[in-house]
Amino acid sequence: MIVKEIKAKSILSKSQIQDYALNAYVGCQHNCVYCYAKFMKRFTGHAEPWGAFVDVKINAVELLAREIWKKKKGSVWISGVCDAYQPLEAKYQLTRGCVEILVEHHWPFVIQTKSPLVLRDIGLLTKAADCEVGFTITTADEEVRSIFEPGAPPIAKRVEALAALHAAKINTFAMIAPMLPGAEGLVDLLKGKVGHVLIDRLNYHYADWAYKKHHMEWAMEDGFFNQKGEELRAEFEKAGISCQKLF
Ligand code: SF4
Repeated sequence: MIVKEIKAKSILSKSQIQDYALNAYVGCQHNCVYCYAKFMKRFTGHAEPWGAFVDVKINAVELLAREIWKKKKGSVWISGVCDAYQPLEAKYQLTRGCVEILVEHHWPFVIQTKSPLVLRDIGLLTKAADCEVGFTITTADEEVRSIFEPGAPPIAKRVEALAALHAAKINTFAMIAPMLPGAEGLVDLLKGKVGHVLIDRLNYHYADWAYKKHHMEWAMEDGFFNQKGEELRAEFEKAGISCQKLF
């Protein structure tokens, strides 16, 4: 893993998901094979494969402390093109520093992660005026998880973290994106731990890759995702969890 400390020029960028996105890192140790953030490689001049490098924006907190006074108050998505709680965050605490500023200024924010390291900041999150924490969980099958998300924490740890956040009265959600084989097992796992669930499909390129490499027996036509996605949505609704299909 090549870790480089860099100084960024700004930290709040425009986002289509929320008003702003905040990425304290470029690159991600979780190394998911379907990661759409890989496009960042093009903009940062990295020759290494995705998952093999992380640039650490060591001035992230300093930048936010300045920008928060200058920019119009809005909702912040943490993070978008990296996992804000990837292992390096344990050392650098940049996400924590940024969340402290957002809480202090009463800015709304949404954290989306795969890492139980977010629990380190639970005390801080309970003080936020408006925040939501989501876990991306794509399957209930740990073997499938290890193929698609080799560097990310196990499913059980993510579910436990959601339970702890929910118990602390923090708004929680699960992002089943991309929906992978074994996702149907998530209905039982997530009961009583999330306020709502979102489901999205897998890009064909990665579906093909997994199919060829691991001989997985699942069809990859639109019909597969439409049918499975609808079945999953209906199961969540039946379990009393509001669920939205994004495709
Ligand atoms: S955790 Fe998110 S940002 Fe990191 S590699 Fe996986 S999909 Fe990409």
